Amino acid sequence: MIRDIIIAIDGHSGCGKSTTSKLVAEYFNYKYLDSGAMYRAITLYFLRNKISYDNEELIKKNFDNITITFKYIDGYQNTFLNNENVEREIRGDKISNNVSKYSSISLIREHLVSIQKEMGKRRKIVVEGRDITTVVFPDAEVKIFMTAEINVRAKRRFQDMKKNNPEVTYGDVLENLSERDNKDSNRKDSPLRVADDAIVIDTSNLEIDEQALKIIDIIKNKFS
Ligand code: C5P
Repeated sequence: MIRDIIIAIDGHSGCGKSTTSKLVAEYFNYKYLDSGAMYRAITLYFLRNKISYDNEELIKKNFDNITITFKYIDGYQNTFLNNENVEREIRGDKISNNVSKYSSISLIREHLVSIQKEMGKRRKIVVEGRDITTVVFPDAEVKIFMTAEINVRAKRRFQDMKKNNPEVTYGDVLENLSERDNKDSNRKDSPLRVADDAIVIDTSNLEIDEQALKIIDIIKNKFS
């Protein structure tokens, strides 16, 4: 058993952050928060309602109409937008290609960050994203930054996406990942960066189980 802490995991798209974070949360019997799913769900809401990412007035007006929740179904965490299960839709190309635009808007970030902070109030949580170690929980007891070579990440994501979308090509996936890396790292508000006190894990040559074990060992060595 470890004491009640926050385990914050940031990093690039496609390095196995979500699966690893879930395994770490399961191991310690902690809650798990996928902050990327919140950015994806809010992007879906604005696209459906034809509200452009630069229309700050309408974005602000609509916050009260958006509720994002999570529910476990068959052991897998599903994302709900206003009580509708949107898990499948938010993982599709349309959202992947638009999410970085909406996530670069400070108004949207402030709104989601305040919800995330609330969700972490009681600690005992693994939170993953792009700004979790630097902005959302700079006081997290454990900070991890996961990365991997872009070709490895694209290959992994391609294998994963092919199952649901046979039309997807490796080239599309590679292009989307490098565009998102670029946008997420260069945006003005809360760019993706390595926190000074984060431990960097390069997962290019690691399997998911090995990544999770590495993080679990780091935590156990520090806290038990
Ligand atoms: O983690 P995932 O790839 O699902 O995240 C989707 C997008 O959401 C990222 O490319 C990034 O633009 C945005 N995001 C963010 N801050 C977070 C998590 C995700 O800006 N904490």
